Amino acid sequence: MSSPIYGAIEAGGTKFVVALATGPNEILARTTLPTATPPETLAAVVAFLNQAEDKHGKLSSLGVASFGPIDLHLESPTYGYITSTPKAAWTQTNILGVLKESFSVPMGFDTDVNGAALAECRWGAAQSVDSCLYITVGTGIGGGFACGSRTLQGLVHPEMGHVRIQQLPQDEFPGVCPFHQNACVEGLASGPALEKRWGCPGHELPPEHEAWTLQVDYLAQALVNMIVVLSPECVVLGGGVMKQSHLFPPLRIRVQELLNGYLEAPQILEENQDYIVPPLLGDNAGLLGALTLGMDAG
Ligand code: ZN
Repeated sequence: MSSPIYGAIEAGGTKFVVALATGPNEILARTTLPTATPPETLAAVVAFLNQAEDKHGKLSSLGVASFGPIDLHLESPTYGYITSTPKAAWTQTNILGVLKESFSVPMGFDTDVNGAALAECRWGAAQSVDSCLYITVGTGIGGGFACGSRTLQGLVHPEMGHVRIQQLPQDEFPGVCPFHQNACVEGLASGPALEKRWGCPGHELPPEHEAWTLQVDYLAQALVNMIVVLSPECVVLGGGVMKQSHLFPPLRIRVQELLNGYLEAPQILEENQDYIVPPLLGDNAGLLGALTLGMDAG
């Protein structure tokens, strides 16, 4: 008997990655589509999946890991919607509903970062432990948390980019968060914050630039808040800004300094090199997150 085939859709603010797979190491077909308007993008997603089904066989289930905010309450009339996103064209988009018109299979739906946390837990950096905090630092800052085979959902879903942190005295940047300006980590340390503060994208700044001292401090403050609340056994940091791999060693040290010996966990006390890490799944963390959601829905 052939293996079940799963569909995976990583719905991002700038691109959609879509795949048909039987598992993380067996991607049968894959494409990347620009995020245009919802009708255009979703029609292209459906067309790709239909074509891939013709070639490889019918889907048994489908997972969608989406940018947000999204509605995850099964009983809500807007379950499966992207809701009040700043990406105007996508406000109140019934993404799952559109997919259900074309595919009558079980579907899993969660945030992109919850999906990535789940995938890192199952196949990636956190596979030897039970819980994973996944933070992306890019166009925005977002966080997801997986424990075992479940992700953290509740009132809405985690919005960890908006934890409040203290701005350093030497930094007078007004911040970029439209809701909290310079009072939250997204306002001070997202990719757009770096670019606006220093006048060029982060990847153009040399490793010795003072930008990174601020960046490390702000991310460390946010991580400490998340670590003491969630008690994750592994912290994975992805996204474009974290491609600056020189950030990891000072970030580990700063987290340790701010915790100041309070948490008696060897993972943190001993250099924490295996505790605060880049995604083992690399740029595939998001897509494989969607795949885990699809596999779990089936
Ligand atoms: Zn904010």
